[in-house]
This record gives sequence, structure tokens and C-alpha cells, in this order.
Amino acid sequence: MLKARSAIVTGSTSGIGLGIAKALAAQGASIMLNGLGDAQQLAAAKKAIADLGVAVDYHGADMTKPREIEDLVAATAKRFGSVDILVNNAGIQHVAPIEKFPDERWDAVIAINLTSSFHTIKHALPLMKARRWGRIINIASAHGLVASAEKSAYVAAKHGIVGLTKSVALETANTGVTCNAICPGWVLTALVQKQIDARAAAAGQTDAQAKIALVSEKQPDHEFTTPEDLGALAVFLCSEAGRVVRGASYVMDGGWTAQ
Ligand code: NAD
Repeated sequence: MLKARSAIVTGSTSGIGLGIAKALAAQGASIMLNGLGDAQQLAAAKKAIADLGVAVDYHGADMTKPREIEDLVAATAKRFGSVDILVNNAGIQHVAPIEKFPDERWDAVIAINLTSSFHTIKHALPLMKARRWGRIINIASAHGLVASAEKSAYVAAKHGIVGLTKSVALETANTGVTCNAICPGWVLTALVQKQIDARAAAAGQTDAQAKIALVSEKQPDHEFTTPEDLGALAVFLCSEAGRVVRGASYVMDGGWTAQ
């Protein structure tokens, strides 16, 4: 379905980003990977995509650096001839009460989880408009719609990306480019394992106990969403029917935000 399309997936060296990159590659899209990681992790991510029979490359842009982000978009256009799909996924978390929240962590969360998407969209959109087709998918969160304590920067950034999504969707409403957000609930990735470790240590729980406590506290289904589930939703947004989905914040959260 996506043969002859090329995709940038930011933060795709692990977790949700890698899952979405694999799902797009399985539909035939060429993939520009991005994210942090050692040589072994980068090679494994590239191999996972190459094994699906599509072209793959990697760009190491740091999502806190606007000039590097601009180069990521330009390098992808040069490598594959176009940027058709942009998945803004790179993200970090920091958990602390606001009085103790380090200034530097606030700036980093806002830069990576929100401002980087402004820069990628700004540079990729003209390329998409020129080809009269494009799909921008912003990975927000249930925290783009509701809040939790001690996650002020993350909740602010994720609410921000939901707003950015709507604004870009309106600006592109009469073009072949769509912009939507995906709002996952808990997904068992490195970002969440850190929170499970902290919870297990604080409550004297085993890893398994901390996992079920964490997911059950928010999600009525008591089940983690997977990168594969989210990949399937991203593929749908890239489909023909996806052309009429504009400015949506699509939840995949096991009922978290229905409460
Ligand atoms: P993860 O830690 O596995 O992946 C994060 C990715 O971002 C990695 O590839 C990492 O290298 C990259 N990254 C971090 N800092 C970067 C930087 N400065 N420059 C470039 N890349 C950088 O975590 P994940 O859970 O897969 O998170 C992916 C996205 O999904 C994030 O935006 C996160 O907020 C969102 N999300 C996660 C969950 C969850 O439960 N895991 C839920 C909702 C939303």
C-alpha cells in the first residue's frame, strides 16, 4: 500500500517509533530512522527494517537542535526523493513534583516532545504539498488529553502537540496532506520501564506486581498497548480512507480517557 512512499520516524531506534517504522515498512515504505543508541542498537534497528525488503537509512539528528532537524528532513528528501510520511515520535519523560522539577529537564521535555515537531513539520510540509500527498502523525499520549501528577512538562508538551496537530490540520485541510495525533495509553517500552522500576523500588513490589499496578491504575482493560497496535493505526492513517481524518486525536488507551 505504501510502495513509492518514504517516511521519517523520529525516535525510531526503540519502542513505539521502531514498531511504527516496521509497520510502515511492511506496507512498502522506505524508512529514515532517527534516535539515540549505540552502534549495536542502530544496526539492529536498520536490519529489522531492511529485513522487510525496503530501503532504510539512519540520521542521528538530536531533536533538541533545530538545524539538525532541518538537515534530517533535507537528507531524507535527498536519499529517497521525497518525504511523504512524517511520524513525530521522539520523546522523553521526567517525573517530579513541580517545585522540584529541574529547569533543564523542563526545557528538554518541551524541546524533544513538542518543539521538535514544529521544526519537522515546518520543513517537511512544503515537500508534501509539492507532491500533493502527505501524512503527518504526531505521537501524543493519553497525557495529551488528561493529566497525571508529577508530569507537568510531559503533560504540557503532550497537550501542546494535540493543539499543534489541530492547527496544522486546518492549515492543510484543502491539500492532500493530513495531520493527526495518536494518543497511546501505557506501552511497555524503555520510557515506561524506568517508571515501573521506580514504583517497584518505592513500594517494595516485584517487577510483575509493579507492572500490573501501573497499568491497572489508569486503564480499565489492565492491558498494555503494544507498538504493533500503534503501527496498525499509523498504517490506517496513511491509507486512502485516512484522507478524511484531519486534526483527530486518536486514542488507543484501553479506556483510560473514557473515564
Ligand atoms: P522509548 O524511550 O523506547 O523511545 C524514545 C525514542 O526517542 C528513542 O528512539 C530515543 O532514542 C528517542 N530520543 C530521545 N531523545 C532524543 C533526542 N534528543 N533526539 C532524537 N531522538 C531522541 O520510548 P517510547 O515509549 O517508545 O516513546 C515514544 C513516544 O511515545 C514518545 O513521544 C512518548 O511520549 C510516547 N508515548 C509513550 C507511551 C508509553 O507508555 N510508552 C505512552 C504514550 C505516549
